[in-house]
Amino acid sequence: MAALLSTGALAQSLPPPRIGDQPGFARVVLDLPKEATYQIEPLGAALRVTLPGQTVAPGLHFVSLPELAGYVLEQHESQAVLILFTPQGVTPRSGYKTMTLAALQGDGQRLVIDLSGAFVDTSPLPTLPEFRFVKANGRRFAVVVDAGHGGPDPGALGPVVEKALNLEVALRVRRFLQSAGVEVILTRESDTAFSPDKRTDLAQRVALAEGKDLFVSIHANATVPARADAWCGLEVYYYSPTATRPFFPSPAPLLPAPPPLALDPLDALEAVQPTQTQGPLDPGAQPSPEDVNPIPPQSLPSPTPQMNSLRRMELSRTLASRVLSYTLGATAAVNRGVRSADFFVIRYTSVPAILVEMGYLSHPIEGQNLREAHYLDRIGYGIARGVLEYLESDQPLE
Ligand SMILES: [Zn+2]
Repeated sequence: MAALLSTGALAQSLPPPRIGDQPGFARVVLDLPKEATYQIEPLGAALRVTLPGQTVAPGLHFVSLPELAGYVLEQHESQAVLILFTPQGVTPRSGYKTMTLAALQGDGQRLVIDLSGAFVDTSPLPTLPEFRFVKANGRRFAVVVDAGHGGPDPGALGPVVEKALNLEVALRVRRFLQSAGVEVILTRESDTAFSPDKRTDLAQRVALAEGKDLFVSIHANATVPARADAWCGLEVYYYSPTATRPFFPSPAPLLPAPPPLALDPLDALEAVQPTQTQGPLDPGAQPSPEDVNPIPPQSLPSPTPQMNSLRRMELSRTLASRVLSYTLGATAAVNRGVRSADFFVIRYTSVPAILVEMGYLSHPIEGQNLREAHYLDRIGYGIARGVLEYLESDQPLE
Protein backbone atom coordinates (compact mmCIF):
# COMPACT_ATOMS: atom_id res chain seq x y z
CA MET A 1 0.00 0.00 0.00
CA ALA A 2 2.80 2.37 0.94
CA ALA A 3 4.59 1.55 -2.32
CA LEU A 4 1.46 2.30 -4.32
CA LEU A 5 1.01 5.62 -2.59
CA SER A 6 4.61 6.62 -3.19
CA THR A 7 4.00 6.31 -6.95
CA GLY A 8 0.99 8.56 -6.71
CA ALA A 9 2.41 10.90 -9.42
CA LEU A 10 2.52 7.95 -11.84
CA ALA A 11 -0.93 6.72 -10.99
CA GLN A 12 -2.44 10.13 -11.77
CA SER A 13 -3.70 9.58 -15.29
CA LEU A 14 -3.29 12.40 -17.83
CA PRO A 15 -6.49 13.93 -19.14
CA PRO A 16 -7.27 12.92 -22.74
CA PRO A 17 -5.81 15.20 -25.42
CA ARG A 18 -7.95 18.13 -26.46
CA ILE A 19 -8.53 18.30 -30.23
CA GLY A 20 -9.34 21.49 -32.15
CA ASP A 21 -10.32 21.92 -35.80
CA GLN A 22 -8.60 25.05 -37.13
CA PRO A 23 -8.58 26.40 -40.72
CA GLY A 24 -6.10 24.15 -42.54
CA PHE A 25 -4.77 22.33 -39.49
CA ALA A 26 -5.75 20.21 -36.49
CA ARG A 27 -4.57 21.22 -33.03
CA VAL A 28 -3.85 18.63 -30.34
CA VAL A 29 -3.26 19.92 -26.82
CA LEU A 30 -1.85 17.72 -24.04
CA ASP A 31 -2.11 19.01 -20.50
CA LEU A 32 1.04 17.88 -18.71
CA PRO A 33 2.65 18.34 -15.30
CA LYS A 34 5.22 21.11 -15.19
CA GLU A 35 8.21 18.75 -15.05
CA ALA A 36 7.00 16.34 -17.76
CA THR A 37 9.27 15.58 -20.70
CA TYR A 38 8.30 14.22 -24.11
CA GLN A 39 9.74 12.85 -27.36
CA ILE A 40 8.10 13.31 -30.74
CA GLU A 41 8.79 11.02 -33.71
CA PRO A 42 7.31 11.50 -37.17
CA LEU A 43 6.58 8.05 -38.63
CA GLY A 44 5.11 8.96 -42.03
CA ALA A 45 1.46 8.09 -41.50
CA ALA A 46 1.54 8.80 -37.76
CA LEU A 47 3.20 10.99 -35.14
CA ARG A 48 4.31 9.24 -31.97
CA VAL A 49 4.52 11.20 -28.71
CA THR A 50 6.29 9.40 -25.85
CA LEU A 51 5.75 10.70 -22.32
CA PRO A 52 8.14 9.10 -19.79
CA GLY A 53 6.78 8.69 -16.30
CA GLN A 54 3.18 9.46 -17.32
CA THR A 55 0.05 7.37 -17.17
CA VAL A 56 -2.85 7.35 -19.61
CA ALA A 57 -6.09 5.46 -20.04
CA PRO A 58 -5.40 3.21 -23.06
CA GLY A 59 -7.86 3.45 -25.93
CA LEU A 60 -8.53 4.16 -29.59
CA HIS A 61 -10.37 7.33 -30.55
CA PHE A 62 -11.65 8.40 -33.98
CA VAL A 63 -11.44 12.08 -34.88
CA SER A 64 -12.05 12.24 -38.66
CA LEU A 65 -10.46 15.59 -39.49
CA PRO A 66 -8.53 15.95 -42.79
CA GLU A 67 -5.32 16.29 -40.77
CA LEU A 68 -6.09 13.83 -37.94
CA ALA A 69 -7.96 10.57 -38.47
CA GLY A 70 -7.78 9.54 -34.84
CA TYR A 71 -5.39 8.63 -32.04
CA VAL A 72 -4.35 5.79 -29.78
CA LEU A 73 -3.24 6.04 -26.17
CA GLU A 74 -1.03 3.22 -24.87
CA GLN A 75 0.73 2.48 -21.60
CA HIS A 76 4.22 0.96 -22.04
CA GLU A 77 5.34 0.22 -18.48
CA SER A 78 6.23 3.64 -17.06
CA GLN A 79 5.80 5.44 -20.39
CA ALA A 80 2.61 6.82 -21.87
CA VAL A 81 2.46 6.83 -25.67
CA LEU A 82 0.15 8.88 -27.86
CA ILE A 83 -0.02 7.94 -31.54
CA LEU A 84 -1.69 10.48 -33.81
CA PHE A 85 -2.83 9.14 -37.20
CA THR A 86 -2.07 11.79 -39.83
CA PRO A 87 -3.62 11.13 -43.27
CA GLN A 88 -1.56 13.93 -44.86
CA GLY A 89 1.69 12.49 -43.48
CA VAL A 90 4.46 13.68 -41.17
CA THR A 91 8.23 13.74 -41.79
CA PRO A 92 11.09 15.37 -39.90
CA ARG A 93 10.65 18.34 -42.28
CA SER A 94 6.91 18.56 -42.62
CA GLY A 95 3.40 17.86 -41.45
CA TYR A 96 3.55 19.12 -37.86
CA LYS A 97 4.65 21.91 -35.54
CA THR A 98 4.95 21.85 -31.77
CA MET A 99 5.17 24.37 -28.96
CA THR A 100 4.86 24.34 -25.19
CA LEU A 101 2.84 26.88 -23.26
CA ALA A 102 2.12 27.43 -19.60
CA ALA A 103 -1.09 25.84 -18.36
CA LEU A 104 -4.15 28.04 -18.32
CA GLN A 105 -4.68 27.10 -14.66
CA GLY A 106 -2.18 25.81 -12.13
CA ASP A 107 1.54 25.37 -12.71
CA GLY A 108 1.46 22.68 -15.43
CA GLN A 109 2.31 23.01 -19.13
CA ARG A 110 0.49 22.51 -22.41
CA LEU A 111 2.14 20.63 -25.24
CA VAL A 112 0.55 21.94 -28.44
CA ILE A 113 0.90 19.87 -31.63
CA ASP A 114 -0.44 21.36 -34.85
CA LEU A 115 -0.92 18.94 -37.75
CA SER A 116 -1.22 19.85 -41.43
CA GLY A 117 0.21 18.56 -44.69
CA ALA A 118 0.70 22.19 -45.64
CA PHE A 119 3.44 22.62 -43.00
CA VAL A 120 6.31 22.32 -45.48
CA ASP A 121 9.88 23.50 -45.94
CA THR A 122 9.71 27.22 -46.73
CA SER A 123 13.28 27.94 -45.61
CA PRO A 124 15.78 29.49 -48.06
CA LEU A 125 17.47 26.99 -50.35
CA PRO A 126 20.92 26.02 -49.11
CA THR A 127 23.90 26.88 -51.26
CA LEU A 128 23.65 24.34 -54.03
CA PRO A 129 26.39 23.01 -56.24
CA GLU A 130 26.44 24.28 -59.80
CA PHE A 131 24.11 22.41 -62.08
CA ARG A 132 25.89 20.05 -64.37
CA PHE A 133 25.89 21.11 -67.96
CA VAL A 134 23.61 18.78 -69.88
CA LYS A 135 23.73 18.36 -73.61
CA ALA A 136 22.78 15.86 -76.26
CA ASN A 137 25.25 14.99 -78.98
CA GLY A 138 26.89 18.39 -78.85
CA ARG A 139 23.71 20.42 -79.14
CA ARG A 140 21.93 22.27 -76.38
CA PHE A 141 18.70 20.91 -74.99
CA ALA A 142 15.70 23.18 -75.59
CA VAL A 143 12.81 23.24 -73.16
CA VAL A 144 9.50 25.13 -73.30
CA VAL A 145 8.30 26.44 -69.93
CA ASP A 146 4.67 27.49 -69.94
CA ALA A 147 3.47 29.89 -67.25
CA GLY A 148 -0.19 28.89 -67.21
CA HIS A 149 -2.95 31.45 -67.90
CA GLY A 150 -2.12 35.17 -68.30
CA GLY A 151 -3.70 38.27 -69.80
CA PRO A 152 -7.49 38.06 -69.61
CA ASP A 153 -7.37 34.63 -67.91
CA PRO A 154 -6.28 34.90 -64.24
CA GLY A 155 -6.52 31.17 -63.46
CA ALA A 156 -7.35 30.21 -59.87
CA LEU A 157 -7.85 32.94 -57.30
CA GLY A 158 -6.49 32.82 -53.76
CA PRO A 159 -4.06 34.79 -51.61
CA VAL A 160 -2.19 35.23 -54.90
CA VAL A 161 -3.60 35.19 -58.45
CA GLU A 162 -2.57 31.98 -60.20
CA LYS A 163 -1.31 33.61 -63.42
CA ALA A 164 1.15 35.77 -61.44
CA LEU A 165 2.35 32.83 -59.33
CA ASN A 166 2.85 30.64 -62.41
CA LEU A 167 5.04 33.31 -64.00
CA GLU A 168 7.10 33.75 -60.82
CA VAL A 169 7.94 30.07 -60.80
CA ALA A 170 8.44 29.82 -64.58
CA LEU A 171 11.07 32.57 -64.36
CA ARG A 172 12.83 30.65 -61.59
CA VAL A 173 12.77 27.42 -63.61
CA ARG A 174 14.26 29.30 -66.56
CA ARG A 175 17.07 30.70 -64.43
CA PHE A 176 17.98 27.27 -63.01
CA LEU A 177 17.84 25.55 -66.41
CA GLN A 178 19.81 28.27 -68.15
CA SER A 179 22.53 27.94 -65.53
CA ALA A 180 22.83 24.30 -66.63
CA GLY A 181 23.18 25.31 -70.27
CA VAL A 182 19.65 24.49 -71.36
CA GLU A 183 17.91 26.76 -73.84
CA VAL A 184 14.58 27.87 -72.33
CA ILE A 185 11.62 29.19 -74.29
CA LEU A 186 8.94 30.80 -72.12
CA THR A 187 5.41 30.94 -73.49
CA ARG A 188 5.10 34.34 -71.84
CA GLU A 189 7.36 36.66 -69.87
CA SER A 190 4.69 39.04 -68.59
CA ASP A 191 0.96 39.16 -67.93
CA THR A 192 -0.07 38.37 -71.50
CA ALA A 193 -1.76 35.73 -73.62
CA PHE A 194 -1.45 34.96 -77.34
CA SER A 195 -5.17 35.46 -77.82
CA PRO A 196 -8.27 36.25 -75.76
CA ASP A 197 -9.67 33.05 -77.27
CA LYS A 198 -8.56 30.27 -74.93
CA ARG A 199 -8.17 27.57 -77.53
CA THR A 200 -6.14 29.79 -79.83
CA ASP A 201 -3.94 30.84 -76.92
CA LEU A 202 -3.28 27.25 -75.87
CA ALA A 203 -2.61 26.14 -79.44
CA GLN A 204 0.03 28.85 -79.79
CA ARG A 205 1.71 27.74 -76.57
CA VAL A 206 1.78 24.15 -77.75
CA ALA A 207 3.18 25.17 -81.14
CA LEU A 208 6.29 26.59 -79.45
CA ALA A 209 7.28 23.07 -78.45
CA GLU A 210 7.64 21.86 -82.04
CA GLY A 211 11.15 20.45 -82.46
CA LYS A 212 12.10 21.10 -78.83
CA ASP A 213 12.95 18.45 -76.22
CA LEU A 214 10.06 18.84 -73.81
CA PHE A 215 7.25 21.04 -72.52
CA VAL A 216 6.48 21.91 -68.89
CA SER A 217 3.30 23.78 -68.01
CA ILE A 218 3.19 25.40 -64.57
CA HIS A 219 -0.08 25.83 -62.69
CA ALA A 220 -1.56 26.09 -59.20
CA ASN A 221 -4.76 24.42 -58.15
CA ALA A 222 -7.86 25.34 -56.19
CA THR A 223 -10.87 23.45 -54.96
CA VAL A 224 -14.31 24.20 -53.59
CA PRO A 225 -14.49 25.75 -50.08
CA ALA A 226 -15.93 22.55 -48.59
CA ARG A 227 -12.68 20.75 -49.42
CA ALA A 228 -10.28 23.64 -48.82
CA ASP A 229 -8.90 22.05 -45.63
CA ALA A 230 -8.53 18.61 -47.09
CA TRP A 231 -6.64 19.21 -50.31
CA CYS A 232 -3.05 20.36 -50.43
CA GLY A 233 0.16 19.22 -52.06
CA LEU A 234 1.85 18.68 -55.39
CA GLU A 235 0.66 16.71 -58.38
CA VAL A 236 2.07 16.32 -61.89
CA TYR A 237 0.02 15.34 -64.93
CA TYR A 238 0.85 13.66 -68.20
CA TYR A 239 -1.54 12.95 -71.03
CA SER A 240 -3.18 9.59 -71.33
CA PRO A 241 -6.24 8.83 -73.47
CA THR A 242 -7.56 6.58 -70.71
CA ALA A 243 -7.79 7.33 -67.03
CA THR A 244 -5.00 5.52 -65.17
CA ARG A 245 -4.39 5.29 -61.46
CA PRO A 246 -2.02 7.82 -59.94
CA PHE A 247 1.36 6.65 -58.69
CA PHE A 248 3.49 8.18 -55.99
CA PRO A 249 7.24 8.51 -56.60
CA SER A 250 9.48 8.96 -53.57
CA PRO A 251 10.95 12.39 -52.85
CA ALA A 252 14.47 12.78 -54.24
CA PRO A 253 17.27 14.23 -52.09
CA LEU A 254 17.78 17.97 -52.37
CA LEU A 255 21.50 17.72 -53.09
CA PRO A 256 22.88 15.67 -55.98
CA ALA A 257 24.87 12.58 -55.05
CA PRO A 258 28.60 13.18 -55.54
CA PRO A 259 29.93 11.52 -58.71
CA PRO A 260 32.34 8.56 -58.32
CA LEU A 261 35.83 9.88 -57.61
CA ALA A 262 37.89 7.44 -59.66
CA LEU A 263 36.43 8.48 -63.01
CA ASP A 264 37.46 11.41 -65.12
CA PRO A 265 34.85 14.19 -65.35
CA LEU A 266 33.37 13.08 -68.66
CA ASP A 267 32.93 9.49 -67.49
CA ALA A 268 31.52 10.70 -64.21
CA LEU A 269 28.84 12.62 -66.03
CA GLU A 270 27.80 9.54 -67.95
CA ALA A 271 27.97 7.31 -64.89
CA VAL A 272 25.35 9.23 -62.92
CA GLN A 273 22.63 6.73 -62.18
CA PRO A 274 18.98 7.65 -62.31
CA THR A 275 17.56 7.96 -58.81
CA GLN A 276 14.22 6.27 -58.40
CA THR A 277 12.70 6.45 -61.84
CA GLN A 278 9.38 5.41 -60.45
CA GLY A 279 9.02 4.89 -56.75
CA PRO A 280 6.67 2.54 -55.02
CA LEU A 281 3.15 2.53 -56.32
CA ASP A 282 0.36 3.67 -54.10
CA PRO A 283 -0.02 0.69 -51.74
CA GLY A 284 -3.77 0.95 -52.13
CA ALA A 285 -3.66 0.97 -55.91
CA GLN A 286 -3.19 -2.04 -58.13
CA PRO A 287 -0.70 -1.36 -60.89
CA SER A 288 -2.25 -1.08 -64.30
CA PRO A 289 -0.89 -3.33 -67.09
CA GLU A 290 1.26 -0.42 -68.31
CA ASP A 291 2.86 -0.19 -64.89
CA VAL A 292 3.84 -3.85 -64.89
CA ASN A 293 4.96 -4.23 -68.47
CA PRO A 294 6.43 -1.02 -69.82
CA ILE A 295 7.20 -1.20 -73.53
CA PRO A 296 10.94 -1.84 -73.91
CA PRO A 297 12.44 1.38 -75.30
CA GLN A 298 14.45 -0.38 -78.01
CA SER A 299 11.29 -1.79 -79.60
CA LEU A 300 9.87 1.65 -80.30
CA PRO A 301 10.48 3.79 -83.36
CA SER A 302 12.71 6.83 -83.24
CA PRO A 303 10.97 9.79 -81.61
CA THR A 304 11.71 12.04 -84.57
CA PRO A 305 10.42 13.49 -86.75
CA GLN A 306 6.94 12.53 -85.45
CA MET A 307 7.13 10.91 -82.05
CA ASN A 308 5.01 7.83 -81.65
CA SER A 309 2.17 8.75 -79.33
CA LEU A 310 2.66 5.77 -77.03
CA ARG A 311 6.36 6.55 -76.78
CA ARG A 312 5.56 10.19 -76.06
CA MET A 313 3.16 9.13 -73.32
CA GLU A 314 5.77 6.89 -71.69
CA LEU A 315 8.40 9.63 -71.78
CA SER A 316 5.93 12.17 -70.43
CA ARG A 317 5.11 9.82 -67.58
CA THR A 318 8.80 9.40 -66.76
CA LEU A 319 9.32 13.16 -66.92
CA ALA A 320 6.35 13.69 -64.61
CA SER A 321 7.82 11.21 -62.13
CA ARG A 322 11.22 12.93 -62.16
CA VAL A 323 9.76 16.38 -61.71
CA LEU A 324 7.40 15.35 -58.92
CA SER A 325 10.16 13.45 -57.13
CA TYR A 326 12.58 16.40 -57.11
CA THR A 327 9.91 18.98 -56.34
CA LEU A 328 8.79 16.93 -53.34
CA GLY A 329 12.40 16.58 -52.24
CA ALA A 330 12.88 20.34 -52.37
CA THR A 331 9.64 21.28 -50.60
CA ALA A 332 8.55 18.34 -48.39
CA ALA A 333 5.01 19.01 -49.68
CA VAL A 334 2.24 16.41 -49.68
CA ASN A 335 2.69 13.88 -52.50
CA ARG A 336 -0.51 13.84 -54.57
CA GLY A 337 1.08 11.68 -57.19
CA VAL A 338 1.71 11.46 -60.91
CA ARG A 339 -1.66 11.55 -62.61
CA SER A 340 -2.97 11.26 -66.13
CA ALA A 341 -5.42 13.74 -67.57
CA ASP A 342 -6.70 15.08 -70.87
CA PHE A 343 -5.52 18.70 -70.68
CA PHE A 344 -5.06 20.58 -73.95
CA VAL A 345 -1.41 21.60 -73.50
CA ILE A 346 -0.23 18.11 -72.62
CA ARG A 347 -2.45 16.36 -75.15
CA TYR A 348 -1.60 18.31 -78.28
CA THR A 349 2.11 18.74 -77.70
CA SER A 350 4.38 16.93 -80.15
CA VAL A 351 7.07 16.29 -77.51
CA PRO A 352 7.02 14.86 -73.96
CA ALA A 353 4.85 17.21 -71.93
CA ILE A 354 3.73 17.57 -68.32
CA LEU A 355 1.57 19.93 -66.29
CA VAL A 356 2.70 20.71 -62.75
CA GLU A 357 0.12 21.68 -60.14
CA MET A 358 2.27 23.34 -57.47
CA GLY A 359 -0.31 23.34 -54.70
CA TYR A 360 -3.78 24.48 -53.72
CA LEU A 361 -4.39 28.22 -53.49
CA SER A 362 -7.67 27.38 -51.76
CA HIS A 363 -5.92 25.74 -48.77
CA PRO A 364 -5.69 28.16 -45.82
CA ILE A 365 -2.01 27.40 -45.21
CA GLU A 366 -0.73 26.22 -48.59
CA GLY A 367 -2.20 29.31 -50.23
CA GLN A 368 0.01 31.38 -47.92
CA ASN A 369 3.05 29.17 -48.62
CA LEU A 370 2.66 29.97 -52.30
CA ARG A 371 3.21 33.65 -51.52
CA GLU A 372 6.63 33.00 -50.03
CA ALA A 373 9.59 33.68 -52.31
CA HIS A 374 11.77 31.02 -50.65
CA TYR A 375 9.08 28.40 -51.20
CA LEU A 376 8.76 29.36 -54.86
CA ASP A 377 12.55 29.04 -55.15
CA ARG A 378 12.23 25.49 -53.86
CA ILE A 379 9.47 24.61 -56.32
CA GLY A 380 11.38 26.17 -59.21
CA TYR A 381 14.53 24.34 -58.24
CA GLY A 382 12.68 21.02 -57.94
CA ILE A 383 11.07 21.36 -61.36
CA ALA A 384 14.39 22.28 -62.97
CA ARG A 385 16.24 19.42 -61.25
CA GLY A 386 13.59 16.96 -62.40
CA VAL A 387 13.86 18.22 -65.98
CA LEU A 388 17.67 17.95 -65.90
CA GLU A 389 17.61 14.44 -64.48
CA TYR A 390 15.18 13.45 -67.22
CA LEU A 391 17.34 15.04 -69.93
CA GLU A 392 20.45 13.29 -68.64
CA SER A 393 18.99 9.89 -67.91
CA ASP A 394 15.85 9.28 -69.94
CA GLN A 395 16.09 11.40 -73.06
CA PRO A 396 16.46 9.10 -76.09
CA LEU A 397 19.62 9.69 -78.11
CA GLU A 398 19.02 10.58 -81.72
ZN1 LIG B 1 -4.07 26.77 -63.92
